[in-house]
Amino acid sequence: MSKIAGLEVIPLASPVQTADDLDGTTETVLVRVLDEDGRFGIGETDAPAAVVKGFLEMPTAHLWSRNMSEVLIGSDPIELAAIWQRMYEGVFWPGRRGLGVHALSAVDVALHDLAGKQHGVPAYKLMGGARRERLRPYCTIYPGLPRGRTIATLMGEICGQFEAALEAGYRAVKMEVLFFDLVTDMELVELIRQGRRVLGDGIQMALDFGYRWTNWHDARRVLDRVADSDIFFAEATLQHDDLDGHARLAEGSPIRICGAEAAATRWEIREWLERGKVGVVQPNITRGGGLTEIRRIAELCELHGAEVVPHGWKTGITAAAGQHFQAACPAAPLFEVVSPHVYDSLLRRELVSPEPDVVDGTMALPEAPGLGIELNEELVERLRTDRPAAR
Ligand code: MG
Repeated sequence: MSKIAGLEVIPLASPVQTADDLDGTTETVLVRVLDEDGRFGIGETDAPAAVVKGFLEMPTAHLWSRNMSEVLIGSDPIELAAIWQRMYEGVFWPGRRGLGVHALSAVDVALHDLAGKQHGVPAYKLMGGARRERLRPYCTIYPGLPRGRTIATLMGEICGQFEAALEAGYRAVKMEVLFFDLVTDMELVELIRQGRRVLGDGIQMALDFGYRWTNWHDARRVLDRVADSDIFFAEATLQHDDLDGHARLAEGSPIRICGAEAAATRWEIREWLERGKVGVVQPNITRGGGLTEIRRIAELCELHGAEVVPHGWKTGITAAAGQHFQAACPAAPLFEVVSPHVYDSLLRRELVSPEPDVVDGTMALPEAPGLGIELNEELVERLRTDRPAAR
């Protein structure tokens, strides 16, 4: 056994930033957990890099507010659930369901990578082993926020991305319809039908409404009308925290209602299932508690006849975590991938490799130890923002 010897937290930022849009792939915070033999595992989280770094490196104040290196060093990385609990209790006071859990998620993913490498097994085997033979990712289709463009331009962009996704092998996509006041609800119905016509039958299609409505009646009016377009789930219909609204909408909805992309831990997901009555929850693996917690969430969903389709809009580390999660969890029909074949993002494309092939909608189970990806150290040195002199 080689114990944990250190923790590094490295903020990374691409030279190209899109602060006026919703692209989380232009920056990240890389977490590296090292063992006594010089091996390391990697993780990331989708939360502000400088704040995560500050959080993970804060000095210990008391037993419920501890320095993360102190929590980790000396532990055996394979004791994943035990370490998770120590981390959770160690940041319980400042952390809870927000930033502390996001930061802990990055470490948990890195521990799966490290323990897998130490034992020569892919991370999903540490999660109980494969529950399926092939993986099924979905590709998100997002032309960006309107930012002055016409709906015709946005739809043209969407159709181009559909084509790129199908060309890359995907057979499941999510059409982001974040058109806001550019279209009326009834115009939106027609655009969704148009999207289905372009995709053709046989391609699994989901929708993300970007929190369009504050009233479940309005959302229902649109969902009823697009049900004949064979929609797998409808995401972000109502305001994120409106659980009662989600429950009203879900009742008798012709389409699975999906939500909880900003939720963290099984405790918060339980509220979404029991009070929100959604059919699909989508916590991000690298925000909601890591691979340890997402597996518990998936088991909780099985008890509620629901499913988990994790949100993931970051680098190839998050995409790789998605693979291992889906491999090990039956209640996971899909996982989100930001395809480097569809989006031109330096960090997404080059931070880690290899990029798995998608063949007729599916991926092979990963075989390499840990997360099965190699870190591009040269890119890390080039993009890290904590050593300004080196840039
Ligand atoms: Mg979303």
